[in-house]
Amino acid sequence: MKADRGRKYRAYPTPEQEEVLTGWGHDARALWNLALEHRMMVGRKHDGTWVWSTEQSLLLTQVRNDADDTVNWLSDLPAKAGQQVLRRLDQAFLNMANPDHPAGHPEFKRRSSAMSIPFPGQALHVRKLNRHWAEVRVPKLGWLRFRLSRALGGAVRNCTVVRDGQGWHVCFGIHTGVVDAAPNGKSGCGVDFGVAVSAYVSTEDEPRLMRPTLTPGEQQRLRGLEQRKARQIKHAKRHNGGRYSKRLRKTLAQIADLKARQARRRLDFTHKLTTDLAKNHGFVGIEDLRVTSMTATAKGTVVEPGARVQQKAALNRAILDNIPGERRRQLEYKTRQYGSELRPVPPHGTSQTCPSCGERDPRNRVGCGREFACVHCGFTGHADKSASIEIEARARRMGGTVTKSTRRPRKESSRHRTTVAGARVNQPSAA
Ligand SMILES: [Zn+2]
Repeated sequence: MKADRGRKYRAYPTPEQEEVLTGWGHDARALWNLALEHRMMVGRKHDGTWVWSTEQSLLLTQVRNDADDTVNWLSDLPAKAGQQVLRRLDQAFLNMANPDHPAGHPEFKRRSSAMSIPFPGQALHVRKLNRHWAEVRVPKLGWLRFRLSRALGGAVRNCTVVRDGQGWHVCFGIHTGVVDAAPNGKSGCGVDFGVAVSAYVSTEDEPRLMRPTLTPGEQQRLRGLEQRKARQIKHAKRHNGGRYSKRLRKTLAQIADLKARQARRRLDFTHKLTTDLAKNHGFVGIEDLRVTSMTATAKGTVVEPGARVQQKAALNRAILDNIPGERRRQLEYKTRQYGSELRPVPPHGTSQTCPSCGERDPRNRVGCGREFACVHCGFTGHADKSASIEIEARARRMGGTVTKSTRRPRKESSRHRTTVAGARVNQPSAA
């Protein structure tokens, strides 16, 4: 019984619980760093094997039993959570070794990185209090209340207590046992994702626009906070030996709160968009883009510095504001859930190809505006709409035979990999 869905709920710890959780968050991070350092130091052993969590778990138990004052923080963190941290480190190394996975070498965690305390499913018990509230029993902490904003929908396989700028959350890995839906028999579409226009669906006449993730007032407040942060850091360096003051920490927390709010709005828009696309279309054609190379920095090298670095950085921010990688991840599992199909098509020249006569010509795009005017047949229209029609046509030509990426080995989380690659290949096209 493996977890196949994730659920995230806002948690409401009591002040005492919050204090304990904060301590554990730091402990879990320190343990991760310690274990990672240990593995890197030992490297490959004499018999050719590496250090894994089984070995480190035994060491962890030993250290906890020794009750030495210097490492007594290790006995604060519940044993189950400690073991889970080590197991996640195993997964991080496995991901690095997997050629289909984008992950690089596991990294050390900073004090400022998001707090996360993992627990295995056996250690937990979840009970519902009423329609809107439930609680989970966490080892050595007791019952932790959370807002039950949607049903769990299956058996809890694991749980991670995390903290972001807006507070504490519990994330569950759930085994729902839901199988992929049969083809929904609807017509397909192509979607052109962009920066100015978040998404243009080929079957629609209006673009889908994401509202700015911050209101003008919030943007102004963020700017003010960033300035205050810079000032306070400068002061800390000059007069305080670089030590962060309480006021600076408060500023940082306020910035984190705004950024977390922004992230949630982004995610909300993306979830609504991808659900709608998957639910109402037989297939969804998208451009098979490489996000990492698209958003590479223009910095260049010391010898040959790049040009227009700031402008490129701003463009990268705008591209990443639409969370392209997350969007694709959502489309991948949602299309399977709703009996649709995700078809990534080669992206070359989609914006230069005429949807009417099919001629590809760079001259079709006059200037740099959103206008499309075919120099061969005289067709005119919105550039993104034309691109989305071309993407749909390419996806349709592709048929139900190719669901794998055409440009590179599949880069997605290891959990979905096996099911996506084989499952939908033989299903009839719903075109
Ligand atoms: Zn034309």
